[in-house]
Amino acid sequence: MYDLVIRGGRVIDPAQGVDGITDIGISKGHIATVGEGLKEEDAAQVIAAQGKIVVPGLVDFHVHVYEAVTSFGLAPDRVGVNAGVTTVVDAGSAGSETFPGLPRFVLPQSRTSVFCFLHICRTGLCHLPEMRDWNDIDYEGTVAMAQAYPNLIKGIKVRVVEPVMWNMGLELIRLSKRIAKEAALPLMVHVGDPKGVEGRSLTKEFLPLLDSGDILSHCFTCKPGNVLQPDGSLMPEFREAAERGVVLDIARGNSGLSFDVARRMLGQGILPDTISTDLAALNIGGTVFSLLHTVSAFLALGLSLNQVIEMTTINPANAMREGHRLGSLKDGMPANVSILEMGEGDWEFKDSETQSLKGQMLLKPVMTIKDGIPISAFQTGTG
Ligand SMILES: [Zn+2]
Repeated sequence: MYDLVIRGGRVIDPAQGVDGITDIGISKGHIATVGEGLKEEDAAQVIAAQGKIVVPGLVDFHVHVYEAVTSFGLAPDRVGVNAGVTTVVDAGSAGSETFPGLPRFVLPQSRTSVFCFLHICRTGLCHLPEMRDWNDIDYEGTVAMAQAYPNLIKGIKVRVVEPVMWNMGLELIRLSKRIAKEAALPLMVHVGDPKGVEGRSLTKEFLPLLDSGDILSHCFTCKPGNVLQPDGSLMPEFREAAERGVVLDIARGNSGLSFDVARRMLGQGILPDTISTDLAALNIGGTVFSLLHTVSAFLALGLSLNQVIEMTTINPANAMREGHRLGSLKDGMPANVSILEMGEGDWEFKDSETQSLKGQMLLKPVMTIKDGIPISAFQTGTG
């Protein structure tokens, strides 16, 4: 007997190589089985998913959800379960001096799972630019905070932007790496600075410092600090970083996605590992709408449905070392499921610059199932 059966949808679970019409049985908040022919009489509740796409609960690997403490923080559920996403990752809104408010005040009001990258700046992103020099970094405090919340904090965050980039130089990255290593966590590095100086960049120098498992955010940006050389070719250091397993994350936001750069990357065999939104109050509904809208732009760029689902399920789960309980529909995993539909028509997608792109597919959320509980999803915007 199952608490819930999802019947007849096209189930795509890249972690298990599943793509086909089948059923999912859920018991006590966990996946009990994925397979054909589950009977209605064996289920307390049945969701008919014929014509729908059923995937592991989607993960948005870069959002800002420290609502009311940072000026651009959004409520987690707005970008999470209400938009077809069961897990979000806050990318550095909090630092060592501000982090405890997030589990105390924000998470109790959230049905969406939230994981965090802890900013090396002691006050996180409370004001921008967040850092000027080493006085803004509390080395021991950051390591201690990461160790105090191992179930929530999955990495360390740093932004390579002016003025700290120039004031500290490569020492900014070396120090961040030391903190991340001491906390035994990956380092997430933001590249691309809309307020940066053309030609002034540390990217070529710091890329060799990143290890397998570290994360490069906004990897398809065209802003100063991007990973292209002046002639438009890829920096060899970037290709080497990708080859040794540095995680390439989109973090679309206001400046993280240039279609020109994306075409250059894809044309040279560079795929993102994770597609994420960087959704925040300063971009939602303006240039960024939802994870599924951002993902649909990548369908228009030529990625397959299986690829974009992999980049929003098991890949981000693995990037925060949670792939054993997140990002798949394996038996026994928490029952986080996203039910989607494909809107076919003529859609126009914009990048964070001035370009637009036509596509015929727009993924839309229908229902989110969080720990076995169905939640009707609605979109926060369609563009
Ligand atoms: Zn961000």
